[in-house]
Amino acid sequence: MDIAAIQEAAYQYVCPTDTFKDRIFLITGAGDGIGKALALALARQGATIILLGRTPEKLEQVYDQIEAEGLPQPALVPMNLAVATAEQFHELAGMLTKEFGRLDGLVHNAALLGDITPIESYAEGTWDTVMQVNVNAAFYLTRALLPMLRQSNDGRILFTSSSVGRKGRAFWGAYAVSKFANEGLMQVLAEELENTTKIRVHSINPGGTRTRMRAQAFPGEVPETRKTPAEILPAYLYLLGPEGAKHTGLALNAQ
Ligand code: NDP
Repeated sequence: MDIAAIQEAAYQYVCPTDTFKDRIFLITGAGDGIGKALALALARQGATIILLGRTPEKLEQVYDQIEAEGLPQPALVPMNLAVATAEQFHELAGMLTKEFGRLDGLVHNAALLGDITPIESYAEGTWDTVMQVNVNAAFYLTRALLPMLRQSNDGRILFTSSSVGRKGRAFWGAYAVSKFANEGLMQVLAEELENTTKIRVHSINPGGTRTRMRAQAFPGEVPETRKTPAEILPAYLYLLGPEGAKHTGLALNAQ
């Protein structure tokens, strides 16, 4: 299948019932937006979700919704990726290894937008925080969780990109650069893991989606002109499910 055919299949993907039964996923930024919608969708297909995010109340709300629907009991990991240390990622991996033993999927979804401003006037503090959350935390978390992913018979790592992570655009500053870095980390890992493990690594560009981040980036836009997070999930489920195991290093769009 060439890439255009794969992309089309991802857009059209309909997830068979129980596709993710008994599989264990960790999603960052699972308390809101696309991460929350993905957590619910995977849980409805039978997965156990480790909900990682910054705001405990938001994570608890997703937790409660999953419980109320009678889906597999999730786990909560409140963690601020802007300040988490390598040691804390290591401790997290130890705790999750004890509780779950293995991990079938890691979705790097949490991100900060930062400032929309020219590079010349970009604030260094903002630059550092965006790179910390969007890039460094993804590296630390991946490194810490790789031993758990190796225990899976069908492991997956999914990075979240953006249109400005595939072609730079004026004023998108650290956010654009961080998304290019996510594509780079995805490609390096995909090649490193291809022949020696069952872990497959991809990236996805959600495209303009009705979330808080989108409203922050485009305050003048009418939100209803954008798809909701729940509407853009077929390509996510394609890459995280059995279809995504057939390839590695794919960079797809969700819409
Ligand atoms: P949201 O702002 O709705 O969600 C982002 C999530 O990341 C939130 O749950 C947020 O937590 C979490 N997060 C942010 N900072 C941290 C941190 N320091 N530590 C832990 N968690 C953190 O945005 P989207 O759902 O739109 O974004 C999801 C992904 O999609 C991002 O990677 C984004 O770059 C990408 N994307 C989105 C597009 C869109 O149009 N929406 C387009 C292209 C890419 P909290 O809620 O607690 O703040």
